Amino acid sequence: MTEHETIAPHGGKLVDLRMAPAEADRAREEAEHLPKVDIGPRELSDLEMMAVGALSPLTGFMAERDYRSVLDEMHLTNGLAWTIPVTLSMDEAGAKRIGGASRIALVADGRTIAVVEVDGIYQRDHEREAQSVFGTTDLEHPGVKAMHDAGDYLVAGEVRVIELPSHRAFGEYRMAPAETRATFSERGWRTVVGFQTRNPVHRAHEYIQKCALEIVDGLLLHPLVGETKGDDVPADVRMRCYQILFANYYPKDRAMMSVFPAAMRYAGPKEAIWHAIARKNYGCTHFIVGRDHAGVGSYYGTYDAQKIFEQFEPGELGITPLKFEHSFWCNRCEGMASPKTCPHGEEDRVSLSGTKVREMLRAGQKPPPEFSRPEVAEVLIEAMAGQG
Ligand SMILES: [Zn+2]
Repeated sequence: MTEHETIAPHGGKLVDLRMAPAEADRAREEAEHLPKVDIGPRELSDLEMMAVGALSPLTGFMAERDYRSVLDEMHLTNGLAWTIPVTLSMDEAGAKRIGGASRIALVADGRTIAVVEVDGIYQRDHEREAQSVFGTTDLEHPGVKAMHDAGDYLVAGEVRVIELPSHRAFGEYRMAPAETRATFSERGWRTVVGFQTRNPVHRAHEYIQKCALEIVDGLLLHPLVGETKGDDVPADVRMRCYQILFANYYPKDRAMMSVFPAAMRYAGPKEAIWHAIARKNYGCTHFIVGRDHAGVGSYYGTYDAQKIFEQFEPGELGITPLKFEHSFWCNRCEGMASPKTCPHGEEDRVSLSGTKVREMLRAGQKPPPEFSRPEVAEVLIEAMAGQG
């Protein structure tokens, strides 16, 4: 850890799996003779994250011993905390096609993007994985469903990346951990809070971010832009909301935005830990965990994603969770508040359900300014009108 570094990466060293240009050219030619495997958007997100070190210390898709250890112990076999398997799935036909090959090429959108040194193929333990990661085996759960659809076999092996996925949306915001770390250092930030989101930022989230910003040097707004379930607001619309919010309400020298390439798993508490570890790799010293972080439906208890942090030894995660309640505008407090700070009742608080907000926006109505910044509401109304 250098003098200006905010926090060491998970495991101490930032992984970089990207090949230099000459090596990549050679690998591309060699890959012509390897069995090719198409990978879908979820595993592509994992691959991109691994390539740039966001999943340090991982250098490849998990072998069975690590897979089991993560599911049973919430740790890798090397002793580091880890809560969600990172695996390369395929169906039986795919596994047979690879046969005994020692190397395979990964293909996305017709381009060869990586080479895997195969270290075994094993069977996915659907029941155990669903129960451990998602706390349920219910196929209605979007994460469980995605896991089942992905396939019954898992290919383990170290990865070398020829080129990153070609979907380069949000280009200037797509910063690797080494780049966010360099930016923090340039800005002289010693403490940085990361904020994960897959939703538009309304005033409640702005308030939480700013409460955190009162005690640290900088804020990294880090929206997830990998695959989400169909009814979440699309990433490009959310990015327009964040940009307009940043331009109008955030101090430029204390807040920055970058995108997080991960796909959502909706694994609640397990994903909260995984999100925190990844943000530590990006250089964040603190991480905001709200109510029902990474939750979906009613699969998790409201505070499960906060409580799970207590299951790790002090200092073992490195990054500090900042646990927040839901917040709201209170008419009597005349400001943003939460149940931790406001003694008044529901009748004094401006709060709207997600369903109600969607209804209003769809009807072209702005939610009250105490709930949403008008600039943000305008972007959302326009986007919804565009959908017809
Ligand atoms: Zn109040």
